[in-house]
Amino acid sequence: MELTLAAVLDALRRIRGLADATPMVPSAYLGRRIGHEVLLKLETVQPGGSFKLRGATNAIAALPPGVPGVVCCSTGNHGRAVALAARARGLRAVVCLSDLVPEAKVAAIRDAGAELRIAGGSQDAAAQVARRLARDEGLAEIPPFDNPAIIAGQGTIALEMLAARPDLRTLIVPLSGGGLAAGVALAAKAVQPGLRVIGVSMDRGAAMHLSLQAGRPVEVHEVPSLADSLGGGIGAGNRHSFALCQRLLDETHVLTEAEIARGMQALFWEDGQVAEGAGAVGAALLLSRQAAAIRGPVGLILSGRNTDMSAFVRVVTGQDVRLGDHVVRGQAWDATY
Ligand SMILES: *Cc1c(COP(=O)(O)O)cnc(C)c1O
Repeated sequence: MELTLAAVLDALRRIRGLADATPMVPSAYLGRRIGHEVLLKLETVQPGGSFKLRGATNAIAALPPGVPGVVCCSTGNHGRAVALAARARGLRAVVCLSDLVPEAKVAAIRDAGAELRIAGGSQDAAAQVARRLARDEGLAEIPPFDNPAIIAGQGTIALEMLAARPDLRTLIVPLSGGGLAAGVALAAKAVQPGLRVIGVSMDRGAAMHLSLQAGRPVEVHEVPSLADSLGGGIGAGNRHSFALCQRLLDETHVLTEAEIARGMQALFWEDGQVAEGAGAVGAALLLSRQAAAIRGPVGLILSGRNTDMSAFVRVVTGQDVRLGDHVVRGQAWDATY
């Protein structure tokens, strides 16, 4: 299937009333910091706490009748979204997770009514289990990012942003498997060809960023991160999101854990927004030196808010946070640095 703006417009119609049209609000603080207007697209208030409900709802709406249920692998948020979207259609959902997924996300997926399978130490291992279940039990597989219906669903965010603010000149998008970035870039550039789209990842295991540099999908070693939703590979046989990101992303950047923590702090203390690490990378980029040449007005996608709240409180109050054998040194928020 060739992905076009028409697919994103279809997705917008399909998800209406099921995945919310979210608010977009200005950040006076970030705007002052970079000297351009900055607008925050609050996918944090989406049911399930992330934008993933858009793609999941669109993909499940596009299934043929008579499917006995759905299966997916996930770093957490996609699984929760698939569980919610399946439940809305009365379908069975099975979610396959690696043991890196934080407990808060596991519990939320269970609460959304899905069956859970914990499958090994990587997202790729979870993907293999999902594929086997799809084959053995006749379940429809709902991939987390490398799928046209998912990409089109995520792209609806850009249509909402540009409908509200056609003058946006840069969109900053959290980047993992690239479903979000591909969909957003596809839709945004179809509507507004001169607009720049920038993808942002953490520097520890940035699969798409490294794959774009290498010119082909590369494997990454997965490690715990404040931006746990950005973990995992892009799949050696990637068919859609890699090529779209290659064609449509203007820049990609990576950030340290300390920079991501600062992004979470800025959003919390200056804007009253709760974002998980993955949702805060856009803000973190604007606070970093890498933001020098960004043109405004800038739209940032706060992609999700699902984090272990006790870890979140430690981050925003400047305490050390342990991630596996890595310690992110805490620093209290100080708006002047
Ligand atoms: C999934 C996710 C991303 C990354 O989306 P991709 O389509 O995999 O690039 C970013 N932020 C949050 C909160 C997510 O759940």
